[in-house]
Amino acid sequence: MPRFGALEAGGTKMVCAIGDEKGHILERVSIPTGEPAETMPAILDFFRDKDLAAVGVGCFGPVDLDRNSPAYGSITSSPKLSWRNYPMARRFRESLGIPVGFDTDVNAAALGEATWGCTKDVENSIYITVGTGIGVGVIINGRPYHGMIHPEGGHIFVERRADDPMPKGICPYHGNCLEGLASGPAIERRWGRKGIELTDIPAVWELEAYYIGQAICTYICTLSPERIVVGGGVMHQEQMLPLIRQEVRRQMHGYIQGKGMEKLDEYIVPIGLNDNQGVMGAIKLAMDAYLEEGGTL
Ligand code: ADP
Ligand code: ZN
Repeated sequence: MPRFGALEAGGTKMVCAIGDEKGHILERVSIPTGEPAETMPAILDFFRDKDLAAVGVGCFGPVDLDRNSPAYGSITSSPKLSWRNYPMARRFRESLGIPVGFDTDVNAAALGEATWGCTKDVENSIYITVGTGIGVGVIINGRPYHGMIHPEGGHIFVERRADDPMPKGICPYHGNCLEGLASGPAIERRWGRKGIELTDIPAVWELEAYYIGQAICTYICTLSPERIVVGGGVMHQEQMLPLIRQEVRRQMHGYIQGKGMEKLDEYIVPIGLNDNQGVMGAIKLAMDAYLEEGGTL
């Protein structure tokens, strides 16, 4: 059975894994994200001589996904300056000589769930991560959607609630976008403590759910997903998901009446792959690259 390499490239750590076509993870290491000159050789060393059929990378971004672009597979405007313009996919291809699948970290997570997780029975779904940043991976007809670049659903504009104790959102580009108002760091800025220390304060999570619920109403209206997965560090707060569903119902106000809206607890769901969704999605990216270049399973 062919073996596939998978990299979940994040701003704090690089999770490198070997997997098979069933999505089983056979081996895994985590390497702290430092400067590319040190981090990349360590990653490539892990994958070398492992008899891999292909490798898949789910990468923090924004990234260039335009296959006709000379910068395809590069990180573009990352706030991590040393990684800006880094040609991730090309580096893998040149040093390992195998097919490389490449997408954003959140598209990889969406694809992992859509292949082996809680959206495997639907063709159109979205995956939202609420963590250090907010990202949205969009799966349309079973494949990650890119369009011009890739969706940046964390940066949609939302209406600031008038009683929000934080006068302005923290996104350096937009102020009051979803990420500016509802990311983990926004919670910390607003309340002066990290989310994990605020578990017992209902107002924190009601306001958070107001923003996430507002964004989900926008995604439902624009993308009509058949299911919505919500993950990321902030979602470790177990009270969040019921509050989000309640806000979606309230803010949608009966306008959309699909199957999902009738059963919101089956429509807006937690992750199904135990925080392996990013790595497993990267395995699927590798499989697809392998098949595209004539490999057989
Ligand atoms: P990243 O987005 O960096 O990949 P995470 O998804 O773990 O990583 O998100 C980290 C953010 O989530 C931080 O802002 C952190 O404060 C917040 N966070 C992590 N765990 C919890 C928790 N149990 N409750 C609330 N917030 C949390
Ligand atoms: Zn923004």
